[in-house]
Amino acid sequence: MSKSLTVLGSLGRPVTVPTGLFIHNEFVDSSTGLRLSVENPSTGQQLGTVSAAGPEDIDKAVESAKVGLVTWTKVSAPMRGRLLLKLGALIERDSYDLATLEAVDAGILFTDSMVFNIPQAIACLRYYAGWSDKVDGKVLNMENGIAYTHREPLGVCGAIVPWNAPLMITIWKLAPALATGNTLVIKPSELSPLYAQRLAELVREAGFPAGVVNIVTGEGSKAGQRLSEHPDVQKIAFTGGDIAGRKILEASSRTNLKKVSLELGGKGPSIVFDDCDLDNALYWTRIGITTNNGQICAAGSRIYVHASIYDKFLQAFKKLALDNSTIAGNPLETSTTKGPLVSKAQYQRVLDFIEHGRKSGATLLFGGEAIGDKGYFVQDTAFADVDDNARIMREEIFGPVASISKFHTEEEVIFKANDSNHGLSAAVFTNDINRAHRVTRALKSGQVTVNAWAMLSPNVPYGGVKESGFGRDMGEEALEGWTAVKAIKYHIFSS
Ligand code: NAD
Repeated sequence: MSKSLTVLGSLGRPVTVPTGLFIHNEFVDSSTGLRLSVENPSTGQQLGTVSAAGPEDIDKAVESAKVGLVTWTKVSAPMRGRLLLKLGALIERDSYDLATLEAVDAGILFTDSMVFNIPQAIACLRYYAGWSDKVDGKVLNMENGIAYTHREPLGVCGAIVPWNAPLMITIWKLAPALATGNTLVIKPSELSPLYAQRLAELVREAGFPAGVVNIVTGEGSKAGQRLSEHPDVQKIAFTGGDIAGRKILEASSRTNLKKVSLELGGKGPSIVFDDCDLDNALYWTRIGITTNNGQICAAGSRIYVHASIYDKFLQAFKKLALDNSTIAGNPLETSTTKGPLVSKAQYQRVLDFIEHGRKSGATLLFGGEAIGDKGYFVQDTAFADVDDNARIMREEIFGPVASISKFHTEEEVIFKANDSNHGLSAAVFTNDINRAHRVTRALKSGQVTVNAWAMLSPNVPYGGVKESGFGRDMGEEALEGWTAVKAIKYHIFSS
């Protein structure tokens, strides 16, 4: 069984990672000997295997994090910040390797990782490094005394993360968790384990004490489930699908009532008013559904266009899609603009939704087919005149499939946009500042972007409402989710 795995990056440059579980700063085999197969979604070929944690390995990782907590508690807050900065610097140094690993393993464009996902991860580490010595409480007057509050770490925590922007989302959890003094067991997605192996090496190189960060690859139903149930884990920070999110919540309620934060799916509305800059709206609505092939929780997958510009919008949206600028292929190549979907299952799921769309009575505006006969490529696809109750309008597809429909009034489109179980991300295109204020406030969504799509920044909180979950990544708000507030009260004797 190989202890390392090598993949070839662009220009044939090899990138090698260990394949063991990262427990207590060592790479070890899983106790069951089970392995996960690592597949390249561009070709469907197996790249190798990595260890798959079973429940006993999760127990070992949690034990390590408990030992690590004793040491970590003694590390000063400024030193915690310095270690996070060091990790950021190492990620920056190894950006090429990490982007290569995300490309061959998860099909993410090398250029997207290099220019966005990895810089976002680094920025997040720097942001929370700054917070590590600034998480202070308050002083409060009481009738017969005085109190102060103190924010304390929760202890051993877990992070269960998906494959669609794996490094960035892992760092969204790791940075605030460690800045506030917790230790962590990270369970990456079985579909994208390779980036995590390099991250583990960098954690060790940065000088984090053993046990502060453990990274255990494995299946959700085994490793993820055990982590969620573990009685010594005080919190699970989860990003992923709705089904797994509910299972994690159930596991917490069955065991120790650990805190849970859930960043789940979305069905983001993009609302195009007739007073907008149309070229700008076209650009962003397209980016909003094609970035990472629509495999983004914030994807703008429902596009509502005002009736007076509907036909013009459809024509221009189609023209943009068919202008031959899309180059599907190997995500490692910098000329490629469209990579594969992450897996065969995801590919089949997206094609099934497209079939539903065809049968729903909607108009296929463009796309609708698989590309090529190897790997998991699907054309950018848009349906127009989609019924409000069609599955492609209501369910998260997590693919490059836009569902477009028209509206007549502001009131009507607010109703349609909010008529969803999800509430993660929305976009509004208008040049009327009053309308922008009215509509952004009326939308039931964790974030709303005006005249663009998504826009991430480590100082701005990110998360959902309704069935898109609760809790926040990033921003000052995330710090609350990783700490417990203690009130310390002093009785002042009267003279
Ligand atoms: P997924 O739910 O299948 O997997 C996510 C993680 O959960 C993986 O690590 C998986 O192994 C683990 N898992 C699966 N079953 C589990 C269980 N029973 N107990 C514990 N852990 C379990 O999701 P995915 O396919 O990796 O990601 C796609 C989903 O993630 C989409 O629905 C998308 O909208 C969502 N997502 C949300 C955000 C956000 O910030 N809201 C960001 C990215 C992705």
